[in-house]
Amino acid sequence: MIKIYGSIKKSFLILTIFLILSSSFYSQSSTFLAISDIHFDPFHSGVSVDTLVNSSYKEWDKIFHDLGNNQFNNYYEDSDYTLFTSFLKEMSAKSSKPDFIIFTGDFLVHHFLDTLYALTNDYSSYASNSFIHKTFGFITSKINRYFPHIPVFFALGNNDSYTGDYNSVWNGAFFHQTSGLLFENFIKDPKYKKEFLGTYPVSGCYSIPFPFGKAQRLISLNANFLSEKCPPNEGVHGKDVLDWLEAELKAARKNNEKVWLITHILPGIDVFDTMDPINPGDKISSAELFLTDNYNDTLIAKIKNYSDVITACFGGHIHMDDFRLFKDKPGVKEPASVFMHVTPSVSPKFGNNPAFQIFNYDRTTFELLDYNSYYLDLAAIKKQWAHEYNFNNAYNQKGINRKSLNQIFSDILDDPATRKNYIKFYPGKSSKSSIKSKWVGNWSGINNLTDSNFVKMYNKNAAKNKPD
Ligand SMILES: [Zn+2]
Repeated sequence: MIKIYGSIKKSFLILTIFLILSSSFYSQSSTFLAISDIHFDPFHSGVSVDTLVNSSYKEWDKIFHDLGNNQFNNYYEDSDYTLFTSFLKEMSAKSSKPDFIIFTGDFLVHHFLDTLYALTNDYSSYASNSFIHKTFGFITSKINRYFPHIPVFFALGNNDSYTGDYNSVWNGAFFHQTSGLLFENFIKDPKYKKEFLGTYPVSGCYSIPFPFGKAQRLISLNANFLSEKCPPNEGVHGKDVLDWLEAELKAARKNNEKVWLITHILPGIDVFDTMDPINPGDKISSAELFLTDNYNDTLIAKIKNYSDVITACFGGHIHMDDFRLFKDKPGVKEPASVFMHVTPSVSPKFGNNPAFQIFNYDRTTFELLDYNSYYLDLAAIKKQWAHEYNFNNAYNQKGINRKSLNQIFSDILDDPATRKNYIKFYPGKSSKSSIKSKWVGNWSGINNLTDSNFVKMYNKNAAKNKPD
């Protein structure tokens, strides 16, 4: 009897220790990586296209590596093999076992098809599809080699297709043929195979639960169908994408799940295109959107309608370090109902420095506690990755959320030190694409996601557009 009692006591003790350990395991802060816009360029990495065409993508790493090239591609170019490799090496050295990676899209170099055609003179879709598929195989398997067993939650970018920029094809060959690679090298967990393959091959979108923590879901939106640059015959499917998003959000609300929404193209203003022809200080009469008017309004309304469900959004596309606030009423101090973190790019194509970010988050609540940004200063004589900034320290905040970001938004206008940081970090400390003399456009774009609101806020503040 004493013996049995003793063993029950012992099991109880083990159970208690187990519960304490597992609860501290789940409540402790953990990390994930945020990356965007890799734009891998197989054409300017020193190897002839013929060699790449005639070999399996599994041999590409050795082929590129054996060249021994250690020059990085420069500003206004995309990521060559050397840059792509050094980025993965640095990131895995800084954080070899993150819980997951969020990659907000654009796998492929800009003008992929034009470059391929010019170099091969082969215009057949069989040849170009198979080369793009190989490039996807190379990129995804290389990331997988640096981060084995780590899920990569991705969104497709506007360059990621068989048919050119902004040219997603509904239920097309690209989605069908890349689904295996993306599942195997990125999503990985067989538990989510059915859900992933249930939607990705048709729309390029998917929705899956996070592999741990409490009820938390990731929804990856393929916003290419919502883009105003999408050909109209494919753009009609923007409605299908938005209907699907509505159904997913509704189901999440019903199941008491919280959602992180990831997308490549952002809702809101294309600030660069809007401000490009404008002299800083001049007023504007209209603004360019990334999405069609109609889809922009619908997507914003959905995100705001589900502000009780969506706890964070992640975007890419602009290649810069930025954020967006979704508000019911425009205005600097109005509270935001949802925020979007915009992850800077690996590619230095827009004159920015390559960057990536390591987030700290709470595994139980999925709150974003902090992040560190790392960058590669391409203007330096000795080009090496370095720590760029810590979010909480730089902005004097505790965590990335709608309140802290709203405070930063307001401080950019009123507090020169905050403005200086925002301007400095926006292009990863590069002077090539500085927004120092035109920051009011970028600042107005954070908060104003429709044409009329943007024009109003910009014009009201345009005179502040002078170098500090
Ligand atoms: Zn891009």
